[in-house]
Amino acid sequence: MRITDIKTYLMQAGAPATTAWTGTGKSALATGRNWLFLRLETDEGLCGIGEGSGWPRVVQTAVQDLKPILIGENPFDIERLWQKMRVAMMGHGDTGVVGGGALTAIDMALWDLKGKVLGTPVWNLLGGKVRDRLRCYAHAKDVAGALALAERGMTAVKLGGVADILRRVEDVRAALPPEVDLMVDLHGPPWMPAADAITLGRSLERHGLLFLEEPVAPEDIDGLRRLRRQLALPIAAGERWATGWGLRRLLDEGLVDVLQPDSGRAGGITQLKKIAALAEAHMVQFAPHAGSLGPIAEYAAAHVMASIPNALMMERLEPDWTGRYDAVVPALRCVDGFITVPDAPGLGVEINEEFIARHPSTRNVAIATGGWEPGTESETAYIQPRFRRRAALIGTPTGDKTP
Ligand SMILES: [Mg+2]
Repeated sequence: MRITDIKTYLMQAGAPATTAWTGTGKSALATGRNWLFLRLETDEGLCGIGEGSGWPRVVQTAVQDLKPILIGENPFDIERLWQKMRVAMMGHGDTGVVGGGALTAIDMALWDLKGKVLGTPVWNLLGGKVRDRLRCYAHAKDVAGALALAERGMTAVKLGGVADILRRVEDVRAALPPEVDLMVDLHGPPWMPAADAITLGRSLERHGLLFLEEPVAPEDIDGLRRLRRQLALPIAAGERWATGWGLRRLLDEGLVDVLQPDSGRAGGITQLKKIAALAEAHMVQFAPHAGSLGPIAEYAAAHVMASIPNALMMERLEPDWTGRYDAVVPALRCVDGFITVPDAPGLGVEINEEFIARHPSTRNVAIATGGWEPGTESETAYIQPRFRRRAALIGTPTGDKTP
């Protein structure tokens, strides 16, 4: 069997049903989100399906650049082809999550194809099933949103953003049934000094969070190190790094309890399995990031999570744009807070080309909008002075807005 072609499908995904991410304005996910799917074809007629996120429109170009080195290759040689692609990208420098997205999409399709040829699910190729169901979590921004998720059976809820986070955690924790876990994602604010993240974290310790995610900017490894020494709170991070080499520094120094590689851009199923093993060796749990990625990458995450011991939870947009359920067949459904591990050969999913063609990509870059406001993410300066520090760290009365 030989690879004969790689076709890419770039689409515009619609707005999530909730814009739970932001407390200051409209979510970037609601205003610009692309999904990139891929079909890897062979001379025997069977195809593999994959998805690459990170920067889908750019990843599409990277995939087409890589195609000539894959045509004519044996698609069963997944590890060798991964290495060949990695070496081919060396001249472009550190390819980060964009190169990671291209590697991911192609690697995912190779695993899907191998499963289809052998008539077995990808999780079986990865060592077999550790579990039949995967626990999921979703996002809320307030009490009403959190209770709605709990009523649908979700066993864990995540609040996001720095804005008024102490009061929101207080209110949501008091409202949620005690058996429902709560997490907080600060989204790595680059204007947040480590000292302030530590102060915030100390205020959150008593709420028994399952984890605090990205309390400082992902580049602020020294800040994470300081925070780690001073907080009794599980820390999660990793969504913005690709490959085991990108993520290993979080593990080497024991900086996280939960590792969150993005299943659409971390380097594919090949890398996710290795990253999960690295995490396992460090007693760290694995909870892949979802964010803006689409339904095929979610299938890949499900197969990896089914096959590893340290799978914590799967991130979901619940409810998402209805197109998530139309772009693929069958759609992965979260029922009573759990996803049933797919059992069909390969990933067990196909793309709906007709639906994708009706949603062509129109824009690929977006930013949260809420009006320009100094000292907030609306200022759109990556490193910036912070305003209203006291309000953010101590909390404000109900109704007040803090950056
Ligand atoms: Mg996050």
